[in-house]
Amino acid sequence: MQSKLASIKVETLKGVGPKVAEKLANLSITSVEDLLFHLPSKYQDRSRIHPIASLRPGEYAQVCGMVEAADIVFGKRRSLICKISDGSGILDIRLFYFSMAQKKQFIRGQYVQCYGQVSFIGKNFSMIHPEIKHLKDNPEPRLENGLKAIYPVTDGLQQRTISSLIQQSLSLLKRSNPTELIPQEWLGKLEFPPLADALRMLHRPPLDISLESLQKGEHPLIRRLAFEELVAQHIAFENIKIKNKKNNAISISGNSALQQKLLNNLPFALTNAQSRVVSEIESDMHKPFPMMRLVQGDVGSGKTLIAACAIFNCVEQNLQAALMAPTEILAEQHYKNFQSWCEPLGIDCVLLTSKMSAPIKRAALESIQQDKAKIIIGTHALFQSQVTFANLALVIIDEQHRFGVEQRKTLLEKGFEANQGRNYPHQLVMTATPIPRTLAQTAFADLELSVVDELPPGRKPIQTAVLSDQKREQIMQRVRDYCTTDNKQVYWVCTLIEESDELQCQAAEATFHDLKQALPELKIGLVHGRLKTAEKQQIMLEFKEGELDLLVATTVIEVGVDVPNASLMIIENPERLGLSQLHQLRGRVGRGEAESHCILMYHSPLSKNAKQRLEVMRSSNDGFIIAEKDLELRGPGEVLGTRQTGALEYRFADLVRDSHLLPDVYNCANDLALHSPLIAHALITRWIKHDKNLAKV
Ligand code: ADP
Ligand code: MG
Repeated sequence: MQSKLASIKVETLKGVGPKVAEKLANLSITSVEDLLFHLPSKYQDRSRIHPIASLRPGEYAQVCGMVEAADIVFGKRRSLICKISDGSGILDIRLFYFSMAQKKQFIRGQYVQCYGQVSFIGKNFSMIHPEIKHLKDNPEPRLENGLKAIYPVTDGLQQRTISSLIQQSLSLLKRSNPTELIPQEWLGKLEFPPLADALRMLHRPPLDISLESLQKGEHPLIRRLAFEELVAQHIAFENIKIKNKKNNAISISGNSALQQKLLNNLPFALTNAQSRVVSEIESDMHKPFPMMRLVQGDVGSGKTLIAACAIFNCVEQNLQAALMAPTEILAEQHYKNFQSWCEPLGIDCVLLTSKMSAPIKRAALESIQQDKAKIIIGTHALFQSQVTFANLALVIIDEQHRFGVEQRKTLLEKGFEANQGRNYPHQLVMTATPIPRTLAQTAFADLELSVVDELPPGRKPIQTAVLSDQKREQIMQRVRDYCTTDNKQVYWVCTLIEESDELQCQAAEATFHDLKQALPELKIGLVHGRLKTAEKQQIMLEFKEGELDLLVATTVIEVGVDVPNASLMIIENPERLGLSQLHQLRGRVGRGEAESHCILMYHSPLSKNAKQRLEVMRSSNDGFIIAEKDLELRGPGEVLGTRQTGALEYRFADLVRDSHLLPDVYNCANDLALHSPLIAHALITRWIKHDKNLAKV
């Protein structure tokens, strides 16, 4: 079933030594076929010049003009602004990071060609850090033929290298084709092009192709690949489901005496939604094969207590249960809660994280192995090889957004091994990412679904205001009052979306320095993706413990962390994010007694669609309503597909965009699984790679 291209290793290509091979492996690329499936993330049209007057904010464009002026401006941020004019209008090239040598290259009267994203700042069109060509005295721009493909890269692997490797792979594609795995009848029915044509055209799109339909993924070439990916994914899910039903698990009885005691000790009763989900879980766990269930519930819907009910049922039968959180802070937070629930009932509960000191860890490991500890709470350290459970009946994974099919399988196996092969633990995954039901049924086809669709009574909704960043000064003033007069804490989230992590972090750093200057009386911290995990957690901890007043962050701020005293959040450029992601971010506030606020500080002008979407955020606090609206209002390039919400990991498919394909996907997948097991297997090998994120589980 394997094609010739899949058996040609990348090492045989020019320019691939051990280092590059390793970098490619990080992108799951080991063969020429893999390279051919590494498709451009976008295309750039450098075949023509756009008149400045015809530009639209948000679009990428190439312009050419004469330098009118180049000055260093000391505004909010020191920057170099170069004005160029092409007779139709004026464009500002803005550089925040520049050298004097760069400044000197902009000479009045000389010509400059640049390519970048257009924005509208002040009175002029602008490009921030565009690619620049200095044409000197020659007004003739340099144009390229065809669309330029831009590939996703990884640290240390350059665009140029990837392009060259793909070029070499395309030459090989001329000589042999990748194996066509989708049956002819389906290709015909859906009017899809053959695989080889699709790959070739996507890497080297002809100029007459609709760039818009390519970028939006509406072109049949992309659909063709999305379809194949969805089919592969569906077959993989079905396989897991079938296999799982053959595994043994201990049957656990519901509504145990211990669970009753736990609930009786609480100052409140379960909500109806909590009770319903608990019984759904209990009905699964009663069966002799492992539960595989996903619980979705908005932030604050009380998922921890649902987990506790299931856990206490296991303890009643003298079995162990483990709760895994994605970070140390969350694990500790859970541990404190469980301790307070366990102590009055005389149940042993331990914490296990990689940060713990050796003797404490040893003691924890011992008590797990000797069956003293019944409830084990930790990070991914729970599933390292030194951990041996005495009798693990249940694994719960909290706040797992990125949880692909491979990760689920691995976890199941690890639970089995750690349990010395006695039986498979029941599995429960909990997430606060609201995904509309129809999508969740596809994305998590191997899991049963529960939804906690109710918040505990008496929650105060977060008050959300939508303000222009022209009010930045007043907003900063408000932050100051909040921290000094009211003694409260504030999050300030920077959401610049850029291809590069690096630029995101630079933007957050710049904001951090601005705020430090403007608000010298506040203690301000900064977290972003470039920090080491330990550093990030240290700063989060300082914020949690009230040592910092204001936390500047990129969108990396942790899910689930409870800082009740932080009740104001500013989100910069919220128009750039999907609504579900905004809702997640906003959920960091509103966790204490006080009224909470969120300010969505947008950058004008807003498109009509962006206005509507921010209005949804202002008027609703319900994650599921917001998720539904998000889908409804998805506009071209405005909302990021489900792919980017972090919930699902598809390479080409986008469940919203491709939802109309789903019935055919299911039929084709079932057909192949039933009648062509070899093809089904080859599809899984091609698409479901052993993914690096596994390490994060
Ligand atoms: P999440 O679903 O985001 O994980 P948590 O489990 O952290 O939510 O619960 C949020 C808060 O709500 C906790 O302080 C918890 O004690 C409280 N809570 C949970 N269930 C109820 C309930 N039925 N009534 C009142 N408060 C509740
Ligand atoms: Mg939680």
